[in-house]
Amino acid sequence: MCGIFGYVGKRNDAGALAVEGLKNLEYRGYDSWGIACKTDGVVLIEKSTGKISTVDSNDFRESCSLAIGHTRWATHGGVTEFNAHPHANGDQKIAVVHNGILENYQELKKDLMEKGHEFLSETDTEVIPHLIEEYLKQTDDFAYAVRMACKDFDGRYAFLALHTESNTLVAARRGSPLIVGVGDDGYFVASDIPAFMEHTKLVQYLDDGEMVVTNGDNIIFSDLETGDEVVKREIEITWSIEQAQKGEFEHYMLKEIMDQKESVARAVNQNEEQIYTLAEAIRNAKGTFLVGCGTAAKACMAAEYFFSVIAEKHVNFAPASEFKLYHHFLLPESLLIVVSQSGETADVLEAMKIAKSKGSKVLAIVNVEGSTIDREADYTLLINAGPERAVASTKALTGQMAVLLLIAYTLADKTQEGKRLLLETSSKINDMLNPRYVEFVESIAEKIQEKSDLFIIGKSWNYPMALESAIKIQEVSYVHAEGFAGGELKHGPIALIEEGTPCIALVGNDEVKADIISNAIELKARGGHIIGISPENNEVFDEWIKVPDAGAAQAIVNIIPVQALAYFLAVKRGKDPDMPRNLAKSVTVK
Ligand code: GLU
Repeated sequence: MCGIFGYVGKRNDAGALAVEGLKNLEYRGYDSWGIACKTDGVVLIEKSTGKISTVDSNDFRESCSLAIGHTRWATHGGVTEFNAHPHANGDQKIAVVHNGILENYQELKKDLMEKGHEFLSETDTEVIPHLIEEYLKQTDDFAYAVRMACKDFDGRYAFLALHTESNTLVAARRGSPLIVGVGDDGYFVASDIPAFMEHTKLVQYLDDGEMVVTNGDNIIFSDLETGDEVVKREIEITWSIEQAQKGEFEHYMLKEIMDQKESVARAVNQNEEQIYTLAEAIRNAKGTFLVGCGTAAKACMAAEYFFSVIAEKHVNFAPASEFKLYHHFLLPESLLIVVSQSGETADVLEAMKIAKSKGSKVLAIVNVEGSTIDREADYTLLINAGPERAVASTKALTGQMAVLLLIAYTLADKTQEGKRLLLETSSKINDMLNPRYVEFVESIAEKIQEKSDLFIIGKSWNYPMALESAIKIQEVSYVHAEGFAGGELKHGPIALIEEGTPCIALVGNDEVKADIISNAIELKARGGHIIGISPENNEVFDEWIKVPDAGAAQAIVNIIPVQALAYFLAVKRGKDPDMPRNLAKSVTVK
């Protein structure tokens, strides 16, 4: 689920490289960390609960040219030093770091214990080095032993295994991402590119069901099932280290909110021919389905309104995790549109598998080029937001909505109108996100920081934004927040409103404005403290956060001040918005 780093090569500071590499993956969220270095033929393992940011890489300077490291997001076994990775076999010749879940680990562990293996942790991961050791009794080929062990595993995983005797590093993936960095003096393998980006921008992607073996001099990719060698292209990544760093900002989340000055315009920059082809595919499809998870799901929901209002086209949204039973609706002529920032979301991949089994085509809207979803989809549109490192998604959401809005306009044969609207919106966002504006949003956060509940209402495409607002506030500030369709309030939730309860109303200059203002009045009558996010002021607002009038792109601008509000609420409440508790950046487990 979280960070994996490995290096083998000519450098002799592999332990320090692992510490620095893992620090670059910290944004993904984790609860413990660990490093294994091969030094003088033995493995030294150092692990701990808590943050790796306080660890000095100079403490890992002993001569070592083969190392692996991990930041763990516990799934099996509590957050303890024993459960932190790496895990080793009995004689400590094999060490493993692992992301994901081995579903059948209990049976495997039982068998291994019967054969005399002793276990030190409660994790599923620990069976990996022990099982490899068993297979090494039949062969001296380490990679072959790893491949045999993989045949016994059920579940989704990415792992690295280090072997002291053969001085090799083997990586295998089924479900969770792994990427090779081709350095001048060795090879890196990590779960995400920032881990090794300071050292190389040349990458090779492992596909699902593949493994890779390297001793630092050469590297061989092969199929996990058959063992057949696979030839890989080297790809040069285009984004810069600066884009991936937070620069002058205190947190990635704030940087990424501010990146929206440009990222919406970058999302619009699509190949027109491709957009026409995709619009045609949607037009001809017998059923178009939109799926995503979390924030991306809210982009899909907003798109349902875009397609209805702009193109008069019916599409069906479902959270990816709920898509399973929709397979009855899928035909070979159906189209599944999947939306994911990372391109690795497990539930989305599962939905794609279902669609493919029915012969349906898949269009992906993702941020990460080369990700599994990008590679497995029939068509991909990249949102070009640049790396998004804060766990709470901000610029990816507005980029996803911009692309979906552009598709809706193209479906209505109004591509140029859509482009113009989005580019104008982008420049309005640029004006809006000035220091005074951000300070103003901060002052509202200051006023409501002690409140324990917060409600957000919206209508039409602002309804999914109300749901998204709640997610943003929940995930970083831990304040209880809920979003509703304005009209739903009187059917229950209004009972929760008390004197002074902060209520955010997301308003546009559109045909539903009068309705949502009425809903805000209903809230105010019960004591709600109304924060209006709207192009125009209204007497019902106790606070007014002005946003530009963006027409059909209103949802894109309205969510931005809420992102900033969530950020400042987190900071004022003493929480780290980049590392929210219990969450990870890309959710690669179901
Ligand atoms: N299932 C493993 C554990 O709980 C791996 C967790 C992870 O992906 O970080 O240790």
